[in-house]
Amino acid sequence: MKNFACFFAPNQRPEPSTTEEGPSRAANFMATGCFFVKKMRLGSTLFFVSALFLLFGGFFAHAERLPVVVLDPGHGGLTPGADLGDGVNEGQAALSLAKKIKGVLDSRGEVRTVLTRDGDYNLPLHERAGAAAHNQARIFISLHAGRDWSRGGEPRILVAYYQARSPESAGTEEDAAVQASLEARPWESAAQSQKAGSRRLADVLKNNLQNNAPPDRVRAGGYPLAVLAGADAPAVLVELTNMGAKPRLREEIQNRAAQDIARAIQLFLQ
Ligand SMILES: [Zn+2]
Repeated sequence: MKNFACFFAPNQRPEPSTTEEGPSRAANFMATGCFFVKKMRLGSTLFFVSALFLLFGGFFAHAERLPVVVLDPGHGGLTPGADLGDGVNEGQAALSLAKKIKGVLDSRGEVRTVLTRDGDYNLPLHERAGAAAHNQARIFISLHAGRDWSRGGEPRILVAYYQARSPESAGTEEDAAVQASLEARPWESAAQSQKAGSRRLADVLKNNLQNNAPPDRVRAGGYPLAVLAGADAPAVLVELTNMGAKPRLREEIQNRAAQDIARAIQLFLQ
């Protein structure tokens, strides 16, 4: 087998033939065999490469076809939001919740989940809502975490859909910002055309979040929230309030909310 050159590495030269009568029949046979083996190796390489392309192509085509869910962790960076205690701010808690929801959704493989930010930095509101349009999202959810000791400090959840004006918001800073943005950029009134879908999404979320929280602690309503105004998809804002300063409790509340939110997303898209 020493002359079976096709199995040698290029720098490993086979021993020269000792016959003087030219290549023997065996050598010819080996050369022919060698030729086919080379062809087979080339063929199998091509087959392997094509299979890889098909596999990855199929995978990405499948991922492209999946409905897109955009999760927007509120605040971040220089706009940390509420101080939740124990050195944690709202922006960090919102990002942690977004990653948990993405983890649950990714494990089920039925949607493609996009985060508007995946680090501790801030984004302008139009970029957050714009991510829904850029990704042709079927759902946009902005995530927030508040702290409100005025109501006994019990954990509560607010699910808000967009409404240009609400009696509670009239005259507030948020209301002024929303009205100014609608006047300056009328195309940002995308939320108006998505109102029915947004309300339904808020209802499905509210019902599912009640699995793990007393019904009177989960509320849904319409508010003139600037981040939702420009979202061209059914859009809501979910705010977990009073998760507490203890990391373990906060982690538990977030884990349960992530499961509930992921289930609501799947139900909404059915
Ligand atoms: Zn917030």
